[in-house]
Amino acid sequence: MTPLKKLLLEEISENGPMPLADYMARALGDPTHGYYMQRRPFGQAGEDGGDFMTAPEVSQMFGELIGAWLADLWLRMGQPKPFCLAELGPGRGTLMADILRAADVLPDFAAAVQVHFVETSAALRAAQKQLVPQAIWHDTLDTLPAMPTLIIGNEFFDALPIQQYKKQPDGWSPVMVSADNDNLVFADGKSQAAVFSDALAACLPDAMAHGAIVEYAPMVEAVMHTAAQHIATHGGAALLIDYGHAAPACGDSFQAMRGHGFVDPLAEPGLADLTAHVNFPLLAHIAETAGLTAAPLAEQGRFLEALGLSLRAQQLMQLSPGREVDIQTECHRLAAPQEMGSLFKVLGVAHKDMPVLAGFLPEEM
Ligand code: SAH
Repeated sequence: MTPLKKLLLEEISENGPMPLADYMARALGDPTHGYYMQRRPFGQAGEDGGDFMTAPEVSQMFGELIGAWLADLWLRMGQPKPFCLAELGPGRGTLMADILRAADVLPDFAAAVQVHFVETSAALRAAQKQLVPQAIWHDTLDTLPAMPTLIIGNEFFDALPIQQYKKQPDGWSPVMVSADNDNLVFADGKSQAAVFSDALAACLPDAMAHGAIVEYAPMVEAVMHTAAQHIATHGGAALLIDYGHAAPACGDSFQAMRGHGFVDPLAEPGLADLTAHVNFPLLAHIAETAGLTAAPLAEQGRFLEALGLSLRAQQLMQLSPGREVDIQTECHRLAAPQEMGSLFKVLGVAHKDMPVLAGFLPEEM
């Protein structure tokens, strides 16, 4: 039994069942035993391998293309100096390191950029410092500097806690985590009448059957709201990449990964990565409510192709003979519909005065 499971079983026997969101927050972020606080989550399957591979860890091309996207946007928005480039949940720092290397072709960009990281894990902050020593770290977005800001986030929102509610004849019952001897188990909490934020209520499907599950993530909404307000006040844009729903949807998307496979999310809190699908219509709705413009949601594969994935792959193959097959495999993983290409979506939102964001135009979709 993991130390955190023991602790949670004790707490439940004292205080009763805990809401799923509290369980998820503890399993990922408990200061001593939380998943992101102690494990090295990302990496190839194998001996010391992590639990899952994120796009920047699959290939340098992912960060390079986003670096070119950022450099182009910065030029077209009037080259603000200085400007803030903020990343949410930077993991090992790989994405930002690749972005900065690619953007180095524009010396003025390199001179103007201030890199800010929003990261709660001390272990991951240390890893990020190795790759991006000049970064400035924050616990939340509230302390980002007052200047034009480009925000990026890859697989950040899926790691924030969600609370599930199950539709009942008399309202919505929260999904709780309870104890059955030495096991953590799901249980239904007492039904409540109104539980969702206005933003989520506006993005729910029209009709839902009894027993339908809705996932409510107040922290996701709060972070998106702060990001949107910051951009509305100081100018800029955000590029948010994650896997999730493209249309209003309900259903259970809570899942756990360990060693590159799915596992029971209640079996080993602290040792498995817990995630949920991101509700993109909701993120776009929050941005638009704050006065930003949202580009039509793009699938990751199409977005990367629009940014020149195939061209970059050809260049790399010429530069590194012998790596052709690897590079082709990397392209396939990032962009093929049966790999990350369709499940992962790209949301671009921007201040109303910003130029059109590249990669999202309907003719490029
Ligand atoms: N973007 C990286 C890592 C994704 S994993 C990549 O693509 O490889 C999620 C990241 O978000 C980790 O760095 C984790 O420590 C961080 N994180 C999780 N919850 C957070 C929170 N509430 N505030 C800030 N960072 C958080």
